[in-house]
Amino acid sequence: MEDEKFMKEALKQAKRAYKQDEVPIGCVIVQNGEIIARAYNKRNKKRNPLAHAEILAINKAAKVTGDWRLEDCVMYITLEPCQMCAGAIVQARIPKVVIGSMNPKAGCAGSILNLLQVQAFNHQVELVKGVMEEECTNMLQDFFKELRDKKKEEKKKLQEQA
Ligand SMILES: [Zn+2]
Repeated sequence: MEDEKFMKEALKQAKRAYKQDEVPIGCVIVQNGEIIARAYNKRNKKRNPLAHAEILAINKAAKVTGDWRLEDCVMYITLEPCQMCAGAIVQARIPKVVIGSMNPKAGCAGSILNLLQVQAFNHQVELVKGVMEEECTNMLQDFFKELRDKKKEEKKKLQEQA
């Protein structure tokens, strides 16, 4: 129940990304049962390949706590993190990550690699997968379908003008 409550908040962040034509991925970081950081994907807006939801949320959480170690925090993320974000999660020593939807094409929490649970590293992350999976997956699918439809329409318009 707790996990669903916070995943809903991550989904709200993803929705904000959606409204700004960003790939809808949202993230919240929770400490002692309270949200200390919220973020969504801003790759286009910031024109920055590093502006993933998880990185922005880690930045905020570190500012709030005044510590680079987020050792008593839980991260909720609507989509399985990429290799960069999985690396940042390990660097921040986040002990637990809750994931909505898995990402077979780019995920590094078990899909392509599992960088969160490499025994040779000095930190491993407890993983919970599939929390509100349907909602998280649907949001991404809707976004990409809309994007494809928009492109088709534009193409049609161009052909009509030709
Ligand atoms: Zn990422």
